[in-house]
Formats: sequence, structure tokens, C-alpha cells
Amino acid sequence: MELGIKGKTAIVCASSKGLGLGCARALAEAGVNLVMNARGAEVLEAAAEAIRKDFGVSVQTIAADITSEEGRNAVLGAAGDVDILVNNAGGPPPGLWSDWSRDDFIKALDANMLTPIAMMQAVLPGMMNRGWGRVVNITSQSVKAPIAVLGLSNSARAGLTGFVAGTARQVAGKGVNINNLLPGAHDTDRIKGLEQSISASTGAPIEEVRKGRFTEIPAGRYGSPDEFGAMCAFLCSQHAGFIVGQNILLDGGQINATL
Ligand code: NAP
Repeated sequence: MELGIKGKTAIVCASSKGLGLGCARALAEAGVNLVMNARGAEVLEAAAEAIRKDFGVSVQTIAADITSEEGRNAVLGAAGDVDILVNNAGGPPPGLWSDWSRDDFIKALDANMLTPIAMMQAVLPGMMNRGWGRVVNITSQSVKAPIAVLGLSNSARAGLTGFVAGTARQVAGKGVNINNLLPGAHDTDRIKGLEQSISASTGAPIEEVRKGRFTEIPAGRYGSPDEFGAMCAFLCSQHAGFIVGQNILLDGGQINATL
């Protein structure tokens, strides 16, 4: 399908690996020029170089912490006029509801709520003036169904979801569409880290933990970053102009709900 976004410019935050990289690659395949970001410069540059070779688009890299103001300014400054913004950052660590201090909550809110909000506040005026824009926020299935050990994520992402629900409807009339993508379990380093922490606390070998997780997913497997990226690129396409403020779940059927 022709997505109609060739030559547009996208910022993809936290995109040297995993779901962010899946989004960056799918946008590049559609002919979108990229500003990619992550903290680690080496892995980021290698990912960008592979995209340049595979798709022939222009890719700038900004190695910076997107949760810092300097990091956000560097990314925004490199991009200039932005047509597409994909918000992403690392997820908060697992733990128990009684473990977390105010500082832990502030860190999670900074990464998974206030940073994407700041990025939207920076790019929305330009998008509205130009009459076209797309924003995709990578959140989590935990927005629909809480994950017990990820209370920090449950909390911060719920806050972002509320902001998007209101804001998406205030900018849609200017040709700007904001939506959220809610990943269930996808095969990335993040999920490997969570498997390791389950394995360490239960004593079960990693392979057993993984198999056990597959039995909880009707699709019988994890999702792939490529599948995730394809949905992101569609939400950023010309075809998605009537999709406003939605929360789209990509979870292999794991959440057992009619709606
Ligand atoms: P991942 O494979 O660990 O990749 C994370 C990416 O983000 C890396 O490129 C990392 O590079 C970058 N990053 C992390 N913190 C950053 C920061 N502060 N500033 C800039 N870049 C940063 O993770 P993932 O699985 O793709 O997950 C992406 C998001 O989706 C996370 O918020 C995660 O909680 C959420 N999620 C994932 C799943 C899943 O199954 N994978 C499910 C639900 C929700 P550097 O480390 O070099 O910065």
C-alpha cells in the first residue's frame, strides 16, 4: 500500500533498538526522512546506517537522553519542521506497589508522560500551521489492563493517555492526528530483561519462562518490531486522517476483552 508520506520528516525517539527501531524502519520504507535518537551513540549510528543503505532516505542521529530538556532540544533542533513524531522512551523498572518512592514516580512520569507531552507541545503548533501532522505515542497494553509488577508504567502511561484523549480532539481540525500504540509482549531487549527478572525470582529457566508467556497469548508468540512498525507507519500515513485519539492494542489477543 502506498502510504503517501514520501519526503516527509519524522522524529522517532528512542529508536536504536526494539519497537522504536521498528517504527523508524517502517517510516523509512515509506520514504520518510528521519531524526533518530537514543542515548548510546554506537548502536544508534549502526541502526541509522542500515536504514540509509536499505531505504535511501536521509537519517540524522542525535545521541541524547530524550527525558532531558537538552536531549529534547537537540532532537527538535536537528529536525526543523517536523511532520511526524513518534514518542518513545525506555520503560520503568518492575517492582512492587509498596517499593516506590516519590523520586521513582517522578522518573517514570518524566520518561513516559512528561517527555512525550513536551515533545508534542513543541511540534504541534508547526504541524497545525502547516495543516498536516501525525503523532504516535508508544505506550503499553498496561493502559488497558494493569500489569502488577509494572505499577510505575501503569501510572505514568495512564496520565499520557488522558492528555492525548483531550488534546487529539483539539488539533484534529487542523489536519493533525494523535494516536497511541499499545504494545503487548514484543520480542525486544526490554522483554528479555523482564524474562530474566521473572527467571531470577522464580528460579525457572528463561526458555521455560518464555514458553509460559506464549501460552498466555492467543497468537502463541511474541509480536515483532517489524509488525509494530508497520502499524505505526499506517497511523502516520495519509490513510489515517480520520483516526483521532485512539488507543490501538497490538497484543496477539492477550487481553481478553470484547472491546
Ligand atoms: P528496548 O528494546 O529496550 O529499546 C529501547 C530503546 O529506547 C533503545 O533504543 C534505547 O537506547 C532507547 N532509550 C531508552 N531510554 C532512552 C532515553 N531516556 N532516551 C533516549 N533513548 C532511550 O525497548 P522496547 O521493547 O522497544 O520498548 C519500547 C517502549 O515500549 C518501552 O517504554 C517499553 O516499556 C514499552 N513496551 C514494550 C513492550 C515489549 O514487549 N517490548 C511491551 C509494552 C510496552 P539507549 O539505551 O541507547 O538509550
